[in-house]
Amino acid sequence: MADIIDEANQEYDQHLTAAIANRAKPVPPSPICRNGDCGEQSLPGTSYCCKECREDAEKVERAKQQRKAA
Ligand SMILES: [Zn+2]
Repeated sequence: MADIIDEANQEYDQHLTAAIANRAKPVPPSPICRNGDCGEQSLPGTSYCCKECREDAEKVERAKQQRKAA
């Protein structure tokens, strides 16, 4: 019986870990610039090819969220 309980606990742990991972998961950097249809290669470790693109995309993202909230 102990085995069954252990398995259940293990499964529970996995679900919990997955739930936490899903919530806290940082967006992985995109190899291609995320700014609109820029299409340039991103700088290593980032999702944008340049500072301007990142700022542009952040502006768009903020505008989207405001539209959602309104
Ligand atoms: Zn770009």
